[in-house]
This record gives sequence, C-alpha cells and structure tokens, in this order.
Amino acid sequence: MGKTITEKILGDHLVEGELTPGEEIGIEIDQVLTQDTTGTMVWLQFEALDLDEVQTELAAQYCDHQTYQFDFKNTDDHRFLRSAAGTYGAYFSRPGNGICHQVHKENFAAPGKTLLGSDSHTPTPGGLGQLAIGAGGLDIAVAMGGGPYYVEMPEVVNVHLEGELPEWATAKDVALHLLGELTVKGGVGKIFEYTGPGAEKLTIPERTTITNLGTELGATSSIFGTDEKTKDWLARQDREEEFVELEPDDDAEYAETIEVDLDELEPLVAAPSMPDNVAPVSEYEGTDVEQVIVGSCTNGAYEDILPSAKMLEGREVAKQTEMIVAPGSKQASEMLAREGWTAEMMAAGVNFSEATCGACIGIGHVPASDSVSLRTFNRNFEGRSGIEDDSVFLCSPEVATAAAITGEIVDPRDLADELGDLEAPGLEMGTKYGPGMGRDDNDIISPEEAIDDGLVKGPNIGDVPLKDGIDVDGGEALLKMEDNITTDHIIPATADILKFRSNIEKLSEFTLSRVDDTFAQRALDADGGVLVAGENYGQGSSREHAALCPMYLGIEAVFAQSFARIHKANLFNFGIVPLAIDAETYERIDQGDDIEIVDDVPAGVNSGETEFTARVNDEWEFTAELDASEREREILASGGKLSWVKQQHDGG
Ligand code: SF4
Repeated sequence: MGKTITEKILGDHLVEGELTPGEEIGIEIDQVLTQDTTGTMVWLQFEALDLDEVQTELAAQYCDHQTYQFDFKNTDDHRFLRSAAGTYGAYFSRPGNGICHQVHKENFAAPGKTLLGSDSHTPTPGGLGQLAIGAGGLDIAVAMGGGPYYVEMPEVVNVHLEGELPEWATAKDVALHLLGELTVKGGVGKIFEYTGPGAEKLTIPERTTITNLGTELGATSSIFGTDEKTKDWLARQDREEEFVELEPDDDAEYAETIEVDLDELEPLVAAPSMPDNVAPVSEYEGTDVEQVIVGSCTNGAYEDILPSAKMLEGREVAKQTEMIVAPGSKQASEMLAREGWTAEMMAAGVNFSEATCGACIGIGHVPASDSVSLRTFNRNFEGRSGIEDDSVFLCSPEVATAAAITGEIVDPRDLADELGDLEAPGLEMGTKYGPGMGRDDNDIISPEEAIDDGLVKGPNIGDVPLKDGIDVDGGEALLKMEDNITTDHIIPATADILKFRSNIEKLSEFTLSRVDDTFAQRALDADGGVLVAGENYGQGSSREHAALCPMYLGIEAVFAQSFARIHKANLFNFGIVPLAIDAETYERIDQGDDIEIVDDVPAGVNSGETEFTARVNDEWEFTAELDASEREREILASGGKLSWVKQQHDGG
C-alpha cells in the first residue's frame, strides 16, 4: 500500500510502535526549538535530569514572547537561556531577532526532518515539508537528551486543494475557511496533509500560514509536500542543499479527504472571540476599527507584510485608526527596510514594532476598552490581547490594511472598486530595489560561538518542583469551568504574570485567576482538590506552567469532557490524572462538591484500569475514564515525567 508524506517521515524516524492510528508511537527527533516563555523550564528540567549535552542534530533557543525589559527578571531569564544554550550546545537567537517559528523557518527548518518544539505553533514549517509537532517543555528536554518523543499515531487527513485563489483571497482565508467548517476541535488526533493542484500554486509563506493555523484546528501537525517552490525558497535562504523531494504515493490511503476549491474562497474574518467564529468580511462591513496589527508568526513574513506596504503606497492610515506592523523576524524587517517599504509604510502612518510576539499575548499594544482590533494573528481568545472585554478579529494582511485605510471593516474588493486604483498586491517578491536579500542570521549565536561558560541564574530563577509518586483520592471540586478553557485562562501570558515563568511558587498565585481570582488561595487552603471542565480543556498553547502550577497547588485530577492533546500530555508529565466524564455527569457536578474517587487510583493506574468510580457528596456516583498508554501510566505512577526519567536513569 502506498504511503502518505506523514507515514514516510514517521516511518524513517520510528523507534517504537506501529503507524496505526490511535496506537502510541515513539519517534526520533532531529531538531528541537524552544522559546523564552517555556524555555527556562526546559533547561531547568534538562539540568534536573543530569544531562550534559544536546543530543539532537540541532536545538534552538529563541527569545520572542517577552522581549521588552520591564525589570531585571526578563533580562535575567534571557541571560539564563543564553548561558544554557551555550553550556549544553544549542543555537541562541537573541531577543528582538524574531518569533521562533519565523526564524526557525528561515534558518533551520528542513524537509523530511522531525521537529519538536515547546510552542503550540511549532507545526509552522510543515509548509516546507518538515514534520513538526508542539509539545510540553519536559518532552522537549527529554528529546534534547536523545529520548524518543511519544505520541498517539494521528489519523492522516488529505486536504485536497483545487483551483487557484482569486484576487484578494489569501492563504489566511484557506485556513479560516477550514476553521469555520471544522471548528477548533476538528483536527484533534489528526495530521492534515495538503495536496492537489491548488497546493502547488501556493508559495512557501502561504503554505506556512496554513500550517501555522492548523494548530487552531487542534491538529497534531500539518504538512505540504515539496516542489520547485520549496527548492527556490530554500535557495533564497542559502540552504538549497537541504531540499529533499517529498510527495505522497499515488495510492496513499488517507483516513479522510476534505476538498477545498480555492476559486470559491473570499476574504474572511474570525470574529470575536474564537478562531472558528468565521464569516465573510462583508458581514461586518462598516464596523469601526480603532487598531490594526499586521504581523505575528502567522502573517509576519516579508511576503506577508509586502502586500500591506503595496496597498499603503501613496495612501494614509485613517485618522481614527492606529496601524502597527510587527514583522515576524528581523530578516523580514531588514528586507522591507532595504527595499524602501518601511519608509513607505511609515509615511502612510504605520507604527513599526520590533520582531516579537508581544501584542499577540497582550504584551504591548493592548486595545482600548470597548474597541475593535483587527489582527493578522492566529488566536483571538477573549482577554488574550490584554483586556478582558476585547473585540479582536483575525484576518489577512490585505483585509487588515483595507480597514486601516478606511477606519472600518471593509471587503478589500469593495474598497478596490471604490478607489479605482487599488490593485490586489499579489505575492511576488519586492520589485522596487531588486529581489529579496535572503538570509540574515547575524543575531543567532551558534554553539561554537557561545559566550557563556556555565549556567547563569538570577534571583528570579527557581527550582523545578518534583513530585514523588501519586496519591490520588479526590477532593473538593475547587472550580467548575465551561468548554474550551485555554492555557491562557489557566496561566495568563501577560507581562505582569509571565515575568514569573521561572519561579513556580510565585507564578502559581495566578493560576486560573482569569476564571476565579480566589482559586489559588482556595486551593492552598483546601490543601489541593480537583478541577471540573467541559470540552477541550487546555486548548491553546503548549505552556506546561498550565499543568505545573496546578500541580504545585495540590490539584490531583481534572475531570473534563475532553482534553486538548498537548495539555493532556502535560497533565501526565506533572502527575495530574486527566479523567474523562460524560456530558450528563458534567451537568450534575457543582463547584464545591466533594468528589471522592472510590477506587484505588495508584493501583488502577498500575494495573491498566480504564474506569474509576467517584462518589459525589456521599450521595451519587459516576464513572470517569482514564485513556492512557502504558508509558503514560508509568509516568503518572512515578508522580510525573521528571521523576520517571530520573528513575529510569537510576535503574529504578
Ligand atoms: Fe508568538 Fe503569538 Fe505566534 Fe504564539 S501565536 S508564537 S505568541 S506570535
């Protein structure tokens, strides 16, 4: 039987298991990436595991989420990361050099290789034919130490693209169309493989916009095959020799095929406050817009910003609207500057930001209260922008720029009709001052160039909490939550909180504060307890602090209708038992109920038990399910992955 691209790459890297959907497989990891939010824990865990040196072909540490320096804590974290990268043998990308996915794509992403990253949008270089997966920091630390990465073999879905994008419809609209059709849960347990004549017509930046947004579908990864466009793009980055040919066999079998006719697509938005709340732009035409931001890891490439620049040439940003451009990498900024586009945009009224995540997680450029912000980002979860009652729309750079010109949401096709001289910008490289200048890696320090000798830890860098074994018998339902609780709800990523990312004792005070600001104190007073949630608990980022901090507060188990993939793995990694409940049980449980798990959980975890009985207020009972592999059970029984790996090293 023929193979899909996914099966070919996984087959080449398989060290345990079989490529049967739903079965756990262990794969060898070629490259890892980590960023500043998750990176400090990764290296502290690497240190706690007594590992000496990075064992993967390549590891890269980026500083992108919080690059602004509010006080010494952030700077200390960056210095620690640089020292860890130097000590253990990783590349270090300096603060301001750009967002991990963009910089990794430019400098290291390679077709046919596996990449594991402690950031949920790690699948971005799937557009270049790399099989890239997001995971928790501890999984990254173990992979860097040479251990396999374990994941349930996903189903491989073929997204077959026909036709060609019409003027003003973009790759962002392909991704938004899929989100509207499939929802934020539609990709769980799946890898999306993009094929067909429509896929061949897309440029590499267009493909990576689509693979980046695959994360919003809940997908394990997304990938395109490789072709001449891939080869050309790699050549522009002086990395042509890394090209390998990758395409599915003619008789490859997919679990499912989704057909998309690109000719039918039109400019779309994701309305507040979920990426799957998708509608044609025309439905919101006339809505006043106070802020527009073009950039992020989704649409921050040079080729993403160029259309905005072309649309703004000789025009002005509306007086009632602020427009910010935040390139995804310094390379993109430099190319725009060298070609004169930066000056053009500045003359039009654009405010330029450094290449950072920043506004995407509410660090800088927080929208005004009760206002609309149009962003080319990938997430518009309520409150993520830094203000609780935000109204963030996601869209393409073209739609964002049209709104900046008019001060209100407008279909760019209507604006083009009205203005008469506004042409669809297209995606060809810059023409003003010649082709793009190619790779710039001046801000990346290679392991050979490392300038630190040993780890440098400031006073805000704490220890990794360690738990020994599990002792789970239930407790008070300290919080009952709705569907789609994100890791942003569990541990917000805003600057005032994120600065404690290396100090778990302090950070845990903010656990679930966006849902209930009394939670952390109540958990401490009750000496721990359990959490109850609806569907898709832990959606969003790979932030392992969202499991680490609840563990620190004594949370033993989470009862939820379903779990997001990375967060569920993080719960195992930190010894919290993820137990699935049905909708009826969810409805019956109230916050404050006493939930006693009647069965012996440690014994059941060890013996492979899948069902556990729990008694509520000594009045009624329900059954909760534990869906865990043998390895995940061992991890739970050890109290978490750090203890488990240590025991294995010690021969325990
Ligand atoms: Fe940064 Fe936002 Fe991309 Fe995450 S989604 S990597 S915060 S730009």
